[in-house]
Amino acid sequence: MQLTSKLPNIGTTIFTVMSKMAVDHNAINLGQGFPDFNPDPKLLALMNQAMQDGHNQYPYMPGIDSLRQVVSDKIEALYGHRYDKDTEITVTSGATEAIMAAVLSVVNQGDEVIIIEPSYDSYVPAVELAGGVPVSVEMEPPTNVQDTFRVDWQKVKKAVTAKTRLLMLNFPHNPTGAVLSQQDLDEIESIVDNSNILILSDEVYEHIVFEDQGHLSLASRPMLADRSFVISSFGKTTHTTGWKIGYCCAPPKLTQELRKVHQFLVFTVPSPMQHALATYTTDSQTYLKLPSFYREKRDQLTKGLAKTRFRPYKCPGTFFLLADYSAISDAPEAEFSMWLTKEHGVTVIPVSAFYKNPDSQMANHKLVRFCFAKTKETLDEAITRLSAV
Ligand code: PMP
Ligand code: GLN
Repeated sequence: MQLTSKLPNIGTTIFTVMSKMAVDHNAINLGQGFPDFNPDPKLLALMNQAMQDGHNQYPYMPGIDSLRQVVSDKIEALYGHRYDKDTEITVTSGATEAIMAAVLSVVNQGDEVIIIEPSYDSYVPAVELAGGVPVSVEMEPPTNVQDTFRVDWQKVKKAVTAKTRLLMLNFPHNPTGAVLSQQDLDEIESIVDNSNILILSDEVYEHIVFEDQGHLSLASRPMLADRSFVISSFGKTTHTTGWKIGYCCAPPKLTQELRKVHQFLVFTVPSPMQHALATYTTDSQTYLKLPSFYREKRDQLTKGLAKTRFRPYKCPGTFFLLADYSAISDAPEAEFSMWLTKEHGVTVIPVSAFYKNPDSQMANHKLVRFCFAKTKETLDEAITRLSAV
């Protein structure tokens, strides 16, 4: 049987590969981004209650009313933009489905899509499945004077052509932890001004920002909100990555197209989770306390790594920390990550996996990504093992 792959260059995701390796080698898994602790018992009780109350059949296609309402209220309170729950908010099967649905709904054959590298692994395949052409723009790696990765917006401007349909952004950024400043938002405005370019803004780590300014959503700028799919996920916010509940906010015209795809990708997403999250999220403390909760873990891992031969980078947002291993090895990142799992029992993610050509020199900065969404005990044990490297 002859088969032409739609994604000839894509294998199993690095997160799955490394998580399996962690299990096989009995390693501490600081690779794939998920908490190793349970969500709030209150949320679990709400979930059980929702099932007992009979919320076990197909919910309304775009998501239940009360959940879209709570998302609308939250965004207005935090970012000052009111999305209409009926025409502008869709509950999705995690951010992953929202990203795929958004891309499939607006990217046509031959359209160019600008992707900032390193980039989350689902972006390029989504664009390719839509028949679009991914155009990569690399971030500037940290230097002596600048302690995080950052985007050179002039490079983005140069990548724009008459065929550019979509600009895909992700801040707080996985894997580098970079966050947006007001100047970045100004730059983005100047890039899309007077153009037909749409934006997909993946903001799944919106509630995990350690800078005083907090998260700067694209929804906070009317001109950007007007042409953006703003996507988030309850998985990161409520420690429920396995529930796969996310959402997408976009102006009515974009939402209409997104829902056409959404209804045939999944139709709708699990009912009891939506009910539980709607009630739980009415308490703003459930997301406002996240920065202090994660700051402690970030600082524990940063201080621990500083005593090893790894050199930790600054982490302004997300639950990921990058660390340089050049004092330990010259191996490329993927090889180093596998060695670390096998020989020292700690699993990480090679940052090179977030590039279209992971084996290229430009994708290999001798950096690995650690996830610190773990208990104090897990992080302590990982640091002990890493101290022996
Ligand atoms: N975008 C980014 C940047 C992510 O890190 C993740 C993963 N966790 C997702 C999207 C997917 O989110 P979800 O698990 O809600 O599908
Ligand atoms: N977003 C998570 C990460 O970056 C993984 C999600 C997945 O495995 N698809 O680790």
